[in-house]
Order: sequence, then structure tokens, then C-alpha cells
Amino acid sequence: MEFSEHYGLARWSMLGDFDQTVRSMTHETWQWMRFLVLLATLPASVWAQTTGLTARLQTADTEIVVEAGESTPRFLSLDAPGQPKWENSASEALPEFVEITGKKMPVHWQLDRNASRSDGKSASFVYESSIPHLRLTWLWRVPAAYGPIEHQIRIENLESQELWIPMQDSFAFNWQIDPQSRLNHLYIEKGANTPSPAGTHHVPLMEGYRWTGTSSTYGDLRDDEPREIIPWSLVQRQYPEESGWYAGIEFSGRTRISLEREKDSLHGSLGLNPDPGPFRTRLAHGESFETPVVFLGGFRDGPDGAGNVLRRWVRAVLGNPGTWSNPNYPLTVNNSWGGGMAVNEEVTLRMIREAADLGLEMFHMDAGWFRGVGDWYPNPKKFPHGLARIADDAHKHGLEFGLWVDWTQAGLSTESGALNARDPTVRDWTVTDLPEDWQPEPFKGQTIDLGVPEAKRWAQKEVERIVTDYRLDMLEHDGYLVAHGCDRADHPHAAPDPLNKCVYKSWGAYWVDSSNSTDVSYHAVRAYYDIYSKLRRDHPGLLFEICNDGGRMVDFGSAAHGDYFSITDTYDPLSNRRAFYDTSHVLPSAMLETYVEKWPTPSIENFRYMLRSGMMGWLTIMIDTSAWTPEQHAEAKREIDLYKKDLRLLIRDASLYHVSARPDGVHWDGIQYWDPERQRGVVYAFRGTIERENSHHFVLKGLQASRRYLVKFYDRSSADRKVTARELMGKGLKVTLPVQNSSELIFIEAEAK
Ligand SMILES: [Zn+2]
Repeated sequence: MEFSEHYGLARWSMLGDFDQTVRSMTHETWQWMRFLVLLATLPASVWAQTTGLTARLQTADTEIVVEAGESTPRFLSLDAPGQPKWENSASEALPEFVEITGKKMPVHWQLDRNASRSDGKSASFVYESSIPHLRLTWLWRVPAAYGPIEHQIRIENLESQELWIPMQDSFAFNWQIDPQSRLNHLYIEKGANTPSPAGTHHVPLMEGYRWTGTSSTYGDLRDDEPREIIPWSLVQRQYPEESGWYAGIEFSGRTRISLEREKDSLHGSLGLNPDPGPFRTRLAHGESFETPVVFLGGFRDGPDGAGNVLRRWVRAVLGNPGTWSNPNYPLTVNNSWGGGMAVNEEVTLRMIREAADLGLEMFHMDAGWFRGVGDWYPNPKKFPHGLARIADDAHKHGLEFGLWVDWTQAGLSTESGALNARDPTVRDWTVTDLPEDWQPEPFKGQTIDLGVPEAKRWAQKEVERIVTDYRLDMLEHDGYLVAHGCDRADHPHAAPDPLNKCVYKSWGAYWVDSSNSTDVSYHAVRAYYDIYSKLRRDHPGLLFEICNDGGRMVDFGSAAHGDYFSITDTYDPLSNRRAFYDTSHVLPSAMLETYVEKWPTPSIENFRYMLRSGMMGWLTIMIDTSAWTPEQHAEAKREIDLYKKDLRLLIRDASLYHVSARPDGVHWDGIQYWDPERQRGVVYAFRGTIERENSHHFVLKGLQASRRYLVKFYDRSSADRKVTARELMGKGLKVTLPVQNSSELIFIEAEAK
């Protein structure tokens, strides 16, 4: 049983040898007993159809039952153990036809019982079609003892010739619901360019509700486009215990999640975005199409209950173990963009000294170091001794060295080694023919289509060269990494519809919208994953920062291939806190980078507020620190030290609670980290510009009700005191801050028993 490595994923093969597993028909008796009890609880309509292979998969938080019917598989139910079930009334819709030499051929799927497997950790149901000859594998697997369960569909072309398959969702459902039930929907926007005023959407899911959330790598590009979501969605019952389910997509291409409520039905789909359609994708002889992996989880205790499991799961299942085993992850960083494009050797060496003096752990060279877009060699006027010299100097000062590269962008440089969009070979890798007068911008060019094998090979070699020659510890990618549609008919993806396409210019580059946009992204994203998987194998300690003009690529596929995200491209304290508030619902805090930029700080309280607004996850300072006063310098040093000594461990390992409404810059807002094992945590408290409201109560979560806690105010804004859990979780933790745009860190620790 092999699933391709396109998802990074030696993970799929970690499942072990499917051939060693047993079919569920031969499961141990006790499992059958549990299953029979379960069947007895199913409605009659489901019971009647439960005749094929059936499997039940379970984690501490999620239970599912799936069945292999003769001609189609079926997802029967989902629940969080002990909570009411979500029962599905729809069979999986498998492709009904394929196209061969321009003709539609109907497909009749037949279960292959001998090839189908299930073992409690996974269920893999195999269907075959003889004419045309195809094999489809419908796979569910349990990657961890807790959290959600993963699903993927794989379709293999066993014909001797090329064929085309139509849109296949990753997962579609039709839950039977009580028309009277009260449900809520939660979805989260990407921080993209700038977090919007909403960001975290808690919406009543009423009769007639119709919603579609989309994700790609280039959302928020035009004003007329809807905000993109992190491809994830949660549905919650009000009773009992704020339980429900959530689902997410582990893919960075064009995807969507839809949800509709109508009478006794709550239905929807997850997977590739079928619009603009019709979607079709080519399969050469022997090739496979794989739907984006999706995960499905049950939860209790509301959105933070779901998030505290999901964040841990993302770290364990999608994260890079090598990264998390570094006790200094997430690192503290100084980024050169504080000086903009005007960076050079002298400035850089000074910044490295200052970063080391502040106690930071990485020097991150941003845009401005190269000869030109697509020409990723150091500018000899700025860096006469090259970049390795800079890397060596950073290392000598005990700092890691990171570099910004926009490596999928072509420019016009004619230097040897440059990616020149006019080069006859390179010309066909761009998504459309560029006009004669086209010029790249200072650090943005024209994206090449990584789905073209030659382009992918060039990119793989180029990033390898950059990492090795410049002695990198971290590689940041930026710009628009994934081609946005493509005008070419000779690429592996589907050709665009000539009658229905739109070619336009934005941010100095050309873009194409057509029926093939989703297929273009499917190929390009898989190539990108391959490139980074190989780079990670060849350079085990190398860190990857995922940046796509800010937070446009925040999704679970990138989380499986990179180490941290730039979560927004706007860096003031409010934008940083908003982007963090939103994104921390679903992704580990350590992976969430906010850049702290220069901001007016007339008082030291404002200065701390600015820093701490970027200190809830991965901290990158993007300020020319030589402009700081001695007082600010000393204060920053103290905060960085505090981050490394006391905050980092909580950011990595603790549970997180959103203990206020989303930040608006006016009212108070806060985040609580809580380590239930060590019974300690911290509250980040922020006061906005509100007048008069000098104090605020934060109602805390997760404490042990019978215990007393020692509460310590780091800035001494209040006297330390002992408080009962009852008070902290009832009336709340009182914080008093007289200054607008100020902050406090309140450390909380259980009194010894
Ligand atoms: Zn293309």
C-alpha cells in the first residue's frame, strides 16, 4: 500500500504494512460486540444498508463509523465520545465517468473485498472499474491517539492511455439533524495582507444558512474578492457541553468548504474548489489523482476545547519533529526589513552585533540583498564579500542566519544563473506571455508554474544552492509561490477555457483566471511540497518560514511542510494581536510569527505594549534597533530574556484560551496560556485606547476549582496576591492599567497542596 509522498508524507507509510492487518470481518470478538451495540443505536435506514465491510475508528476525541458498500463507500457517523452522533445519510459520490480521447465513458465501481483492509488504526476500501480500468482507494486513518481522523481518496489510472477525471470532493456529508436544534458555526479568516475587523466568525447556523469559505495562496489580492479562510470549519451544538465537530484541509491549493442547513439536513463538502469549473485533471497511464487530505474531529468544551486538541495534533502529526525537539523553538529574531531595501554589509554586520547584544537568536535577512528579482545572488555593491561572510558572522555571534527569497519569481536579469522571463526556456514556465514592456518590481516578478517538471527541477536546484552556498539555518519564501491560473495548453495541468478566461495585471505580475485555475494550483502545490520535502530531508536542521505576501498561505498543508508562518503583512500591535487571536484557534502558537515594526511609543508602557503584541507566538523584531533609546534598549533586552526564560515554554506546550473578545484596539483584550500539568500559566493583558476603564476582569479557564493560585504581576501594576480558582474563573482576574495602549503579563501558579 503506498500513498505517494506528495503530502510530505512518509506519514502515510508510518501506518505500517497494510498487508499485515486484518479485515474488520475478522476483528476480535470484543470489537464486534462494541460494533453490534453501535448498530443497535443506529436508525433503521442506516441499519438496513449496513451490510458490507464496516469499520469503526476512534481517538480520545473522535469516533467514526465507515462502511464499504458494493458500489460505493459510505461514511455512517461521527461523534465525540459520549456526545450525540452526527449521522450521515449520503453515500460517497465517486466519479461517474472519465474522459478518454475526448469521449465520456461511464465508470461502474465494484468493491474489491480482498484488497480492502481495516485494522482499528485505518480503513482502506478499494474499488475497481474494469472498463475503463481504474482503481480507487477510500482511506481513513488514525494518526494519533487523540484529535481528528484523516481521510483521502486516491484514483489510479490503470488504462494504457491518458484519461481525464472530473471533480472529486475530499469529503461530502449530509448530517441528519433535529430541525429545532441550535447550532453555531465558527470559521477563521487568514491574516493575509491585513486582518479584517472580523477575523473570527461565530455565526448562528440557522435554517436556510448557506456558506462557502475558500482558500488559495493569493486571497485578498483584489478588493472585490471575499476574504479567505484558513481551510477549517467548526459546527457546535449549544447543548450538551458545547460539543460538535470540525474539519480541515491539508492542502495549499485552491480549496473550499461549504455548509448548508435545510430542514433536517446539514450538508456540505470539503476539498478542491470546483469553481470556476468545470474542473478536470489529466492522469497519464499509471498516474494517480489524490484528493487533498482532510481531517475530521469531534470536540467538547467549545472552540478552545477543540483548539487545545487540534494545536497539539498539528504539532505531533503535521509538525517536523526535528524542529520541535529544539528547545529554542520558537526562536527570537531580528529582521533586516527595519532598514528596508537599503541593507548592505556594513548595516548587516551592525544589526548582527545589536541582535546578539539584545539576546536574540536569529538574524533574518529580508529583501534587498540580491542582484535582482529571479537573480538570487548577493548584490556585489552591497555585499562585496558575499553572503556566506554574513552567515559566518551571525554564527560567530551565536545567531542563526535566515534569508528571504522569492524563489518562484522570474525577472529580467541577464546575469548567469538568473531566472530570466525572456529566456526561451523560461518563457514557457510563466503563466502567460509577458508584454514587451513588462518590468519586474523591486522585489516582485512573474511567478513561474512549478507544476511544469523542468521549472520544478530548476527551483529544486536553486533552493538547494541558496541554502548551501549562503549557509542558511532558515529559508523564508515570499511572493506568490503558486501560479494563479495558467494560460498554457502544453503544461501538465488542464488547458484554460479559451472562451472563458481573464488575464490581468496586479502587483506588477500577470494572472490568469480560467476553468483550469484549481488544477494549476493542484500541480504547483504538489511540486512545492516535493521541493520542500526533499530540502528538509537533505538539510534536517533547516527551518522554513512560510510567507506568501504575509499570511496568505496559512493552512494545514503548509503546516506539514514548513516550521512557522508569517500570519499577516501588517505589523502594528493591533494587527499582530488580531492575526494571532484568529490563527491561534487552529494552529500551534509557536508556529505563528508576528513581525514587530516601528510604532509610536511615547512612553515605556507603549513600548512594552508594542513588543508584547508580537510576543504571544514566534517573535520577530523588524525595527532598526540602533534608533532605540538606552531605556528602550534595556527594556527590550529584559523582555526578550523573559520570553526565553518564562514565556517560550508556555507558548510551545501550554493550552491556550481566548479570554476576551477579539482585539479592537479600544477595549481590553487578552490571551491565557495554561499548563494543566504544571498548574501554571500566564495572562497577556492589553488595554486599548478606551478612556476611564482603568481596570478589567479576565475570566480564566482550565484551573482546578478547589485550588488557590498565586498571582504575580510582572510589571508590578498590582501587588502579587493569592486568589481562589473560584474567583479567577468566576468574577475573573482583575488587572488595572492607567495608561492607554499598555500591557501586563500576569503569571499564575497553583499554591502547593
Ligand atoms: Zn501552467
